[in-house]
Amino acid sequence: MATAEGSPYELYIGGQDVPGTRGARSELLDPATNRPFAQVAVGSKDDARAAMEVADRAFRESGWAADDGARRGKALVRLATLLETRLEAFARLETQNMGKPLRESRGDIQYVVRTLEYFAGLADKVEGTTIPVPGSRLDYTLREPLGVTVHIAPWNYPLLLAVRSVAPALAAGNAVVLKPASLTPATAVAFARLAHEAGVPDGILNVVPGSGGEVGEALIADPRCRSVTFTGSGAVGRRIAELAAARLRPATLELGGKGPVVVFPDADLDRAAKGIGYGIFQNAGQMCWAASRLIVHESVRGPLLDRVRAIAEGLRLGPGTADGVEMGPLVSPEQVERVLGFVDEARNDGARVVTGGLRATEPTLAAGNFVRPTVLAEVPSTSRALREEIFGPVLAVLPFSDPEEALGLANDSEYGLLGTVWTRDLVTAHSFARRLECGMVVVNEAPLTFPQSPFAGVKASGVGAEQGQAAIRAYTREKNVLLQLGAGRRKG
Ligand code: NAD
Repeated sequence: MATAEGSPYELYIGGQDVPGTRGARSELLDPATNRPFAQVAVGSKDDARAAMEVADRAFRESGWAADDGARRGKALVRLATLLETRLEAFARLETQNMGKPLRESRGDIQYVVRTLEYFAGLADKVEGTTIPVPGSRLDYTLREPLGVTVHIAPWNYPLLLAVRSVAPALAAGNAVVLKPASLTPATAVAFARLAHEAGVPDGILNVVPGSGGEVGEALIADPRCRSVTFTGSGAVGRRIAELAAARLRPATLELGGKGPVVVFPDADLDRAAKGIGYGIFQNAGQMCWAASRLIVHESVRGPLLDRVRAIAEGLRLGPGTADGVEMGPLVSPEQVERVLGFVDEARNDGARVVTGGLRATEPTLAAGNFVRPTVLAEVPSTSRALREEIFGPVLAVLPFSDPEEALGLANDSEYGLLGTVWTRDLVTAHSFARRLECGMVVVNEAPLTFPQSPFAGVKASGVGAEQGQAAIRAYTREKNVLLQLGAGRRKG
């Protein structure tokens, strides 16, 4: 019997694999070799429309929305359990498609399992409130699912970032149409097949791989679309905000970052260096919340830089599937060009390359998209490498001499996703947590989140939040009901 993870990856609409109206397919490449490993169907506008129609019918007719929530919760728990039993196969597929080390993919799939369990637990707790109003009246609210919700995902955590929004949408009773990134659709299709096995009704979870411009825009433009959740770049996020606004649809936008890491002189430098290395080299730096700007007190700059440099130079690069690999390839040759373009530009602007800044050219790596972990110092404040999201393993180092200067440097960015502070001083920690212009702050820890914690950016990093109980509110609407209780019984 074919497994959920088996190629080819078709569109998944109405509880089955469908080839797509154009019958087009593209090859998925292994980023460690740039050799094809599987095929995926490429959806069209017509496929997008078909998926929306099927989802809308399933929303109205399957009973998924009308249930009391316990059935939805059970289905999501079954899905989590099934995924856990296939964790290794899903992790291997994610690594083959996206490139990250298997250890990281296992962590990503485990995070998906946990996300499903968390939202399964909330599925029967979608509650309204009772509101005291004057007179003999009852005023209460109902929280109702929106209908068909559209989810557009990026390639850097392909399944994790898709399920981060799909899970609460399903738990709240919606029908979902998901468009994964064109480069990395494999695990999303496999996941939809697994949802079918878990008893999620046909048509409640549909996946349409294809281009953003065609499939993504057609999904948002469809009159049956009730909300859009987008995770990706700022440029596409702005386009999606316009499309959604023109149709008066709510849009949650999770966009880029340029995360500051502020290290005070009293920090534990060994732990800080490890956290900094993890925050910029994990997933080869292809993270929205990458800790890409190291703002370090000048008194500890030398010793910290020595430690970070040693970590960068000691990381073992290789195909994500190989044992002991600590950093995999970038997702595509275009991403390599983009990342090295930023480094070259910084060099021309006068920055110093402390380490890295090159492709890895060993015979076993040369055919893949490998870039050496890179640290840049003395980057001019106007350099694009300091202002724009690089989305690769590139850290820029900036010294400071007093806390106000550190705060100014940290907040001098159009982005505001996650900021990190390393200090043993509680007052400094809390003061920076309040004054950093970020949606999330971590203290004495590498970037970290949990399904129960809000995940959100401010400024150009996004609009709205994901995860946590608020996600259920985002995928429901509040209806107010007012009853006159005294009519016909009025005395005197
Ligand atoms: P991208 O914006 O190029 O694409 C994201 C998704 O949007 C893909 O599925 C793509 O096909 C689709 N898309 C492209 N054009 C579209 C259009 N006109 N209409 C509808 N959909 C369209 O982003 P990417 O390169 O896949 O991912 C990297 C970006 O994602 C980075 O900027 C990163 O910071 C951001 N990101 C943010 C978060 C977060 O939670 N804040 C998490 C991960 C990644």
